Amino acid sequence: MEVNAVDLCGKTEYDNLRMYEQLYSCIQQCDTIGVTSHFRPDGDAIGSTLALGLALQSLGKKVYMWNEDGVPARYAFLEGAELIQPLPDTIPADMDMLVCVDTGDWKRLGDASQRLLADFPLIVNIDHHGTNTRYGHLHVIEPETAACAFVIFNILREWGVLLTPQLATALYVGISTDTGSFQYGSTTPAVMHAAAELLAAGVDVADVNRRVYQEIPYSSLLMQREVLNNMVVEADGQLAHYSMPAGRKAELGVTLEDTKDLVDVVRVLQGVRAALIFEDLEDGRIRVSLRSKDPAVSVAAVASLFGGGGHAMASGIRMRGTLEECRAQVLAATRKELGYE
Ligand code: 5GP
Ligand code: MN
Repeated sequence: MEVNAVDLCGKTEYDNLRMYEQLYSCIQQCDTIGVTSHFRPDGDAIGSTLALGLALQSLGKKVYMWNEDGVPARYAFLEGAELIQPLPDTIPADMDMLVCVDTGDWKRLGDASQRLLADFPLIVNIDHHGTNTRYGHLHVIEPETAACAFVIFNILREWGVLLTPQLATALYVGISTDTGSFQYGSTTPAVMHAAAELLAAGVDVADVNRRVYQEIPYSSLLMQREVLNNMVVEADGQLAHYSMPAGRKAELGVTLEDTKDLVDVVRVLQGVRAALIFEDLEDGRIRVSLRSKDPAVSVAAVASLFGGGGHAMASGIRMRGTLEECRAQVLAATRKELGYE
């Protein structure tokens, strides 16, 4: 199928409904659809992949689901999580369309995915990041909405897809994790209505919340203790950060998953407006995780200066350089955003 690049970014609810319809007619012309998301997937990436994949199956499509790093242990309880497979070596010959969910930038798919998919002719980009770079051929983007899973909830409702408990749980995990358990400003009345509909469709809310938030591996707590022991607080208490040197993960016996949400450990400090974590990934790149607690402080603006992106109050960067160099540059830009210097 020939598709010219179309930006379906809706401005009004009416626009959104039109773009869901256009996506539906495009999908009707496909038999086999791949669904993928960014590397080191979070709850929204996994929930969005699984929910859309299951919904497409219910519409009679053959579906492939994959990402570069698999399903984190904390989301493995989701029914159907095993459907999300490792990246294939070659694109399946029968795949007509690929949908990328929760992925604001093509680079976020990961190096192997980028190589695999470089020439694929029909890529749909469903996302909620304000900094989305509009890669792909069809874009369904609702910037700064609560979660990609919330966008998918709206799409599926418009398409009339039946919300099974399995599908509802996947969507609920995506929305809950990306709103910080319904704490962030992105938690609108419509998001709460969506959550209520998902509970009515059969989500076991106590079970899901226990599994996602209250079964933290010991290695993760060790890592959190390391952050508390070594964090730096500056700019009159408004800026808190921690830097993890290369090799430290191995010394502590922690995994990649244990470092995922570390920035939350420093963010909660009273008076902090910006919180950052620097992680030496040992592949020549530094991962920076940035959070703001003040709508006047945009960490997405800081991240964009270094080729990263995300949301105004939660963003990330992967940059080249030494830990010291990257930290100095990003902290200088953050101090400026905070009105220091
Ligand atoms: P985290 O700090 O949890 O890794 O990421 C926070 C947010 O920033 C997420 O919404 C994520 O999609 C986005 N993000 C993280 N790293 C990058 C990056 O390197 N580039 C872009 N464009 N977005 C990122
Ligand atoms: Mn998301």
